[in-house]
Amino acid sequence: MTPSSPNISQIIRSNRKTFGLEITPDGRLIVRAPKAATQAQIKAVVAQKSAWIAKTRARLAAQYPQRQPRTFTEGETFWYLGEQYPLRLTDRVRPTLDLNGAFHLSRQAHSRARQVFIDWYRAETRQITLSLMETYLQQYGFKVNGVRITSARTRWGSCSGKGNLNFTYRLCMAPLLVVEYVVVHELVHLKIPNHSRHFWAEVARINPAWQESRAWLKRHGHLLTLD
Ligand SMILES: [Zn+2]
Repeated sequence: MTPSSPNISQIIRSNRKTFGLEITPDGRLIVRAPKAATQAQIKAVVAQKSAWIAKTRARLAAQYPQRQPRTFTEGETFWYLGEQYPLRLTDRVRPTLDLNGAFHLSRQAHSRARQVFIDWYRAETRQITLSLMETYLQQYGFKVNGVRITSARTRWGSCSGKGNLNFTYRLCMAPLLVVEYVVVHELVHLKIPNHSRHFWAEVARINPAWQESRAWLKRHGHLLTLD
């Protein structure tokens, strides 16, 4: 009899020499592996650690509030700027979705509700990050080429070499203070590409509350999703 092997949610290969396992607060298993690792090797490492994986999942489930899978039904709540608003279905056709004390979704759009929400969050995140950046650009003289809103699941923002910043559409689900921190974090990466002491000092200078924001994301980040 073979023991059941834990499901792997994501495999991240890099130049590392050893394997690393991580359980996210919502119980997903992320495996970090050397570039040349075979599927069989990865499976073996995971099987060997199955007791630790089960124990860690149980501990995290007790520690972090868990969420139910989305059904987009009346009363289900959705995040916006750190608050949760209930969903109401309306007979109105346009706009397909708006937020006014509650999220009002047109019944006609219900079958594609997830995409309607993604589009809405995407537009909001773009508007909020752009307007925040405008302030920081003037005040601190950063140079940004462009902003892209992505569907990234595990990162809130990223910075690619040529002055382009990326933010996930989920970002505007977080409180504004947290959004500010993520924007500042990526802006500072334009000047300092690593997470050195110098980098964090620069983040702290512009965004003194950064540690609270980081802690908030660590605790609530896994809840900010449409899954
Ligand atoms: Zn960073």
